Amino acid sequence: MRTEIAELGEFGLIDRLTKDITATNPATVKGVGDDAAVMDFGAGDTLVLLSSDMLLEGVDFDLTWFPLRHLGYKAVTVGASDILAMNGTPTQLTLSLGISAKLSVEDLEELYAGARAACGELGCDLAGGDTTASVTGLAIAVSVVGTVPRDRIAWRGGASENDLVCITRDLGAAYLGLHLLERERRALAEVENPRPQFEGYEYLLERQLRPRARKDVIDALAAEGILPTAMIDISDGLASDLLQICKSSGCGARVYLDRLPIARESHALAEELHIDPVVAALNGGDDHELLFTVPLGMRERVARLGLGVEIVGHITPAPAGAALVTPDGSNVPLRAQGFRE
Ligand code: ADP
Ligand code: MG
Repeated sequence: MRTEIAELGEFGLIDRLTKDITATNPATVKGVGDDAAVMDFGAGDTLVLLSSDMLLEGVDFDLTWFPLRHLGYKAVTVGASDILAMNGTPTQLTLSLGISAKLSVEDLEELYAGARAACGELGCDLAGGDTTASVTGLAIAVSVVGTVPRDRIAWRGGASENDLVCITRDLGAAYLGLHLLERERRALAEVENPRPQFEGYEYLLERQLRPRARKDVIDALAAEGILPTAMIDISDGLASDLLQICKSSGCGARVYLDRLPIARESHALAEELHIDPVVAALNGGDDHELLFTVPLGMRERVARLGLGVEIVGHITPAPAGAALVTPDGSNVPLRAQGFRE
């Protein structure tokens, strides 16, 4: 019997492949199911974190518009973001490449310059990798190791009723940046000296091409004495990632449409391209911001954080499900997306 992958979807596929895996090593605290694996090697209060991510040409990026320096930077952001989502500190990473023949040494040096810059900002050491040839375009795999004190770890499963739902910046901009880049690529495909029109939309390009891992937020949470009850990084869109928190925590959630931060540039481009900016924020993906929950009593401390952090809703009992509340008070159920387009 043959089952098509589409029948299961991304999350169903992961569940199916990993359902019979049980940890045999006593150091494994948590395997599949959170942003990073968690290990306890008996080093006092320190837990060790491990995440891995893959970026594929033609799926996650298009080299006609993705500068290699930015791509190296983004690969580190994507990897480190999962360690930060456990409230951890990224400390070492490996960067592995499947290299297509069309790339030059200088191209790859650019990629490494970007990766080094991101590592430098995070205080994370580039500690190895693997290099191989690829016949299907550039492939980048990044694995990140980090640490977190045992009493500071934030799981996906710790949210409880009445907790506040917080996000760390406006959403949807990276997705709209992707649409802008694609529009210009199509428009200029046959033009000899293409001059893409990006004026006014630089912010969207920055969000797609150079997303920053939010270590600043993790540091600020510690400084303010805030321990999130649950946290995840928003890589697949708010809807999908909030649903992961709800599933792991056994709860529901309500987010309020009029509290969803969407940048002015996102509204403007969405209107031009006839895309609903709310759909971009809920299902767009690629934001690499953090979604976290805190007890209701932390409202004022969260407000003091700044850094773009916004409270967008709250956690409800499980039967309520996860819903978007529109200004007229109706509840629209949130749906997960899986595999990004
Ligand atoms: P993220 O978006 O945070 O990188 P994913 O949604 O890709 O996380 O993965 C969800 C969980 O499933 C994670 O715990 C991840 O380690 C695990 N996972 C994903 N793909 C695989 C795989 N091929 N084999 C085993 N575990 C996987
Ligand atoms: Mg993640």
